[in-house]
Amino acid sequence: MKAAVVGGGLAGLAAALDLVDCGHHVTVYEARPTLGGAVQTLPEREGDPDPPPDNGQHIALGCFTEYLRFLARIGEAGSVLRKRLALPVVGESRRVATISSNPLSILGYRHLDRGERLAVLRTLLRLRTATASDGETFGDLLRRLGQSQEAIDRFWDVFIRPALNLRTDEASAAVGAFTVRTALLSGRAAADLVLPVRPLGAMHGDAAGRALEAAGANVRTGTRVDSLDDLDADTVVVAVPPAESARLLGDEPVPLEDSPIVSVHLLFDRPLLRVPRGALTGHEPQARGQYLTVVSSGVPELLEIRGRGLVDRIAGQLTERLGAAELLWSRVSREPRATVALRPGQAAVRPGTETRYPNVVRAGTWIDTGWPATMESAVRSGRAAARALTAEKTTPIPA
Ligand SMILES: Cc1cc2nc3c(=O)[nH]c(=O)nc-3n(C[C@H](O)[C@H](O)[C@H](O)COP(=O)(O)OP(=O)(O)OC[C@H]3O[C@@H](n4cnc5c(N)ncnc54)[C@H](O)[C@@H]3O)c2cc1C
Repeated sequence: MKAAVVGGGLAGLAAALDLVDCGHHVTVYEARPTLGGAVQTLPEREGDPDPPPDNGQHIALGCFTEYLRFLARIGEAGSVLRKRLALPVVGESRRVATISSNPLSILGYRHLDRGERLAVLRTLLRLRTATASDGETFGDLLRRLGQSQEAIDRFWDVFIRPALNLRTDEASAAVGAFTVRTALLSGRAAADLVLPVRPLGAMHGDAAGRALEAAGANVRTGTRVDSLDDLDADTVVVAVPPAESARLLGDEPVPLEDSPIVSVHLLFDRPLLRVPRGALTGHEPQARGQYLTVVSSGVPELLEIRGRGLVDRIAGQLTERLGAAELLWSRVSREPRATVALRPGQAAVRPGTETRYPNVVRAGTWIDTGWPATMESAVRSGRAAARALTAEKTTPIPA
């Protein structure tokens, strides 16, 4: 069977690998010059430090089983550092409190008073069984379970915002509860931080391209597909973002909004952040300085602030909290469509793999995988699409 995969992000790459591993003749069409989609290293610019910056920090968790399997398949299992969850949260007064995988550690969370800490612990345990509908926000659910706005802002938002790329008061309760249950309430290993230790482009797109070619697939980068009719294939996986997917499939556009991520990469002349031992940024503090990446999830206002103004604002906030330092280099990366925004009511509009054409399937992190729009969702969607085409011949995806 000749299979065409349109889109060389993680969804398309995962689908293509499963299809080629099942013995199909696979061609991947990717519009950009590189594979990897949203998981990219920025094109090199003069003056960039080595290694060059990525388009934004990508963090996986221990519960991202299909993403980890994908890395193993492309020979990159060793390109991540896995460590127990320990999220240091630096307060206005420079005090540090840590969120970890042990629910009892909440009792030592110094950004809340004792009563609030106990209430957070109670709510966390209640979330195991609480009914979480897609019709309300996660903030509404937390308030129903007894949480104050203080606890939402100082504890829940710290975890939910980077995970869902939305504020707790914007995200769907069902998606928020799924995230807490899957990551924080499924055993310690599920919450492990899985951090990239190589440039994202090299360990995702480049490595997957090599693995596909070694398995006999044809990879065509720099090739935008204008119409599915142009493809010489028996079956097609359409693994592109929602609007392009609708255009190619002749569907009504799916009413899913985007949520942005803005990353500001900064090189200071001295180490500023010692607490997380550098691992959260992938860069150890060095004798001569420190490279930090500040990631702002779901803050659309930042898209409006241009270049120098944004760097000055973020660098100023950091030095105010962490101490004086001179900025040696900076670069800004804006991703206005980083993820889809899973607000209340959006679960129902996420389509499945099936399309109106029997030989064409849909993939992409945004389709209905049951997961938030993460790398895990992308890989799962790709594997589900391949499975739909090959009628269960690939390894089943565990629930
Ligand atoms: C800055 C940033 C930070 C993130 N951080 C995290 C994180 O920490 N953890 C996490 O799990 N997830 C994170 N994500 C989300 C994650 O990267 C995405 O959910 C996932 O990579 C999307 O994969 P995809 O294959 O579904 O889509 P995409 O990566 O968007 O891939 C789609 C591909 O299709 C191509 N394409 C589009 N139209 C056509 C066409 N007509 N013909 C050919 N090709 C076409 C595009 O060029 C693109 O390469 C982040 C995303 C961004 C942008």
